[in-house]
Amino acid sequence: MINFALTKIKIQNLSKYYKIVSLPLIMIEQSILEITSDLSRANKIVIVPHKGPDGDAIGSCLALYHFLKEKGHSVQVIAPNDFPQFLKWLPGNEDILIYENKVEQCKKLIEEAEIVFTLDFNMLNRAGDMVDVLTASNASFIMIDHHPEPSDYANHTYSDSTMSSTCQMVYKFIHKLHGLKLITPEIATCLYTGIMTDTGSFKYRSTTSETHRVIADLIDKGADNAKIQNLIYDTFSESRMRLLGVALQNLKVNKELKTAYITLSQEELDKNNFRKGDTEGFVNYGLSLEGVVFAAIFIEHKAEGIIKISFRSKGTFSVNDFARAHFNGGGHLNAAGGKSDLSLENTEIKFNSIIHEYREQLLSL
Ligand code: 5GP
Ligand code: MN
Repeated sequence: MINFALTKIKIQNLSKYYKIVSLPLIMIEQSILEITSDLSRANKIVIVPHKGPDGDAIGSCLALYHFLKEKGHSVQVIAPNDFPQFLKWLPGNEDILIYENKVEQCKKLIEEAEIVFTLDFNMLNRAGDMVDVLTASNASFIMIDHHPEPSDYANHTYSDSTMSSTCQMVYKFIHKLHGLKLITPEIATCLYTGIMTDTGSFKYRSTTSETHRVIADLIDKGADNAKIQNLIYDTFSESRMRLLGVALQNLKVNKELKTAYITLSQEELDKNNFRKGDTEGFVNYGLSLEGVVFAAIFIEHKAEGIIKISFRSKGTFSVNDFARAHFNGGGHLNAAGGKSDLSLENTEIKFNSIIHEYREQLLSL
């Protein structure tokens, strides 16, 4: 069932030489052998998700955390910043350290770590304020990630942009380490959650038959699918629901360019008791409009002095390219993010002017 032959893996020797290619099975086995040997020698392991961690980032980190703990390692998950309320029931979530809240303790753990796993991102700057301490670390880095165009910071890069989610990759990684028998209901729950949230509950194009086979196995291993769906999607607070109302009132549609976007100012967030994760999924409402192929949401973050942006698209319109080119971001073909240092109003003006350059592409869809 698991085919590693098509997986892109980067082998790096002593940080001096590396290449990214589609490797024959035997070389991937070699990388797994090296990782197995690294793991057998390492006691202290740190696992890091990207800044603004989502269900896939937290789910994959916690799944790997439980797995490595079972194998007898001393493991710590350190997130650059806090994660959404709707994930604060995941098994082990209370053990996660938030770097920006406990800088000194986290720095020490990273300095002492022998292995650092970085999950669900492939550019070190996605680790936010943790970049410097990660760069200075002597640990062996292992990246597991499904975003396109990985950068070169890790000693072992397991990168596959055909995967639905990092959680699906962690399942395969555990399989490769002959660990499927060690998957507990807690691990199954964490992996199920990440695959579910990154595939929009198994409806995005990235969902394959293999995704469903993995999901089936996770249910067999104790993931309570209906309960997880309920805990993630049906736990809106009243203020979050009202914030969604404001977002939908602010929706702007450019029918001609098949584009829709939402803005939310800091004032609107404050008025509705905004908590981390409250705006998750809002961008999809724009994309669910008939005829719309490109959607965005612009959210003001006064404290950081930025506008955080999410992009979504249908078909071949690459929001990864769009975010990289104009908004200092990236992501996947149909789901990406970025940021702007301009005011909310000027970011909106910039966006409205740029989309005209994409007229032909947008109209061809
Ligand atoms: P979201 O819009 O849900 O925050 O993110 C969608 C996708 O884009 C995710 O895969 C996420 O990792 C990626 N992404 C979001 N924001 C950024 C960013 O600022 N930079 C990069 N490189 N990727 C981002
Ligand atoms: Mn992901």
